[in-house]
Amino acid sequence: MRRAGRVVREVLELVRSHVKPGATTLDLEKVAEARIAELGARPAFKGYHGFPCVLCTSVNSEVVHGIPSPKRVLKEGDIVSVDCGAIIDGFFGDAAITVPVGEKIHPDTARLLRVTEASLQTAIAAVKPGATLGDIGAAVQGVVEAEGFSVVRDFVGHGIGSHMHEDPQVPNFGEAGRGMKLRPGMVIAIEPMVNAGKPDVRVLKDGWTAVTDDGSMSAHFEHTVAVTATGATVLTE
Ligand code: MG
Ligand code: MG
Repeated sequence: MRRAGRVVREVLELVRSHVKPGATTLDLEKVAEARIAELGARPAFKGYHGFPCVLCTSVNSEVVHGIPSPKRVLKEGDIVSVDCGAIIDGFFGDAAITVPVGEKIHPDTARLLRVTEASLQTAIAAVKPGATLGDIGAAVQGVVEAEGFSVVRDFVGHGIGSHMHEDPQVPNFGEAGRGMKLRPGMVIAIEPMVNAGKPDVRVLKDGWTAVTDDGSMSAHFEHTVAVTATGATVLTE
């Protein structure tokens, strides 16, 4: 799983370097698809429940599951969430980043990205044997809500292994001490989706793209994390 995680990380960092004003989200898809093949991996998303691409690219008020398109031109001040999954020898890696486009990001939007990433890191720091899924959700929620942002409820993290989505669900909200206890050897994808406004989302007519109901900006960061004997190791770093 670490091998699959490294592929995902390498692809995401390559895609990040291609995010600039004037690029389309399909440009990012092409870069990712070629690199996944070069690295001897297979894309995890393409064909999954009929999803057409190797990346999800979700711009501004799009939360997750945006479909790369030649018509979606990135412009200065946008943000784009890039989610990537890869398979090696039957095992999966899954991670996401949200990247600012250009240099003139609005300060509130920059703060949304910082807080979302910080909520993921705080959640990872809570992962150890005996900790609970509620500890993870409470960690994310605490960081996010302290900054006046909101956690999306309609999508959650997940177990991951020889399938991309396995039990248990890993919500980004909850109560410390509640829920399933973590044990060494479990691997989960922790993936806070954070809206600048209200938590509500809806899915567009394409059947995939989830957007914030109030049109506010949304950010998404994700890592695949293994529970070890003493804590956690991030497989997509
Ligand atoms: Mg993902
Ligand atoms: Mg995931």
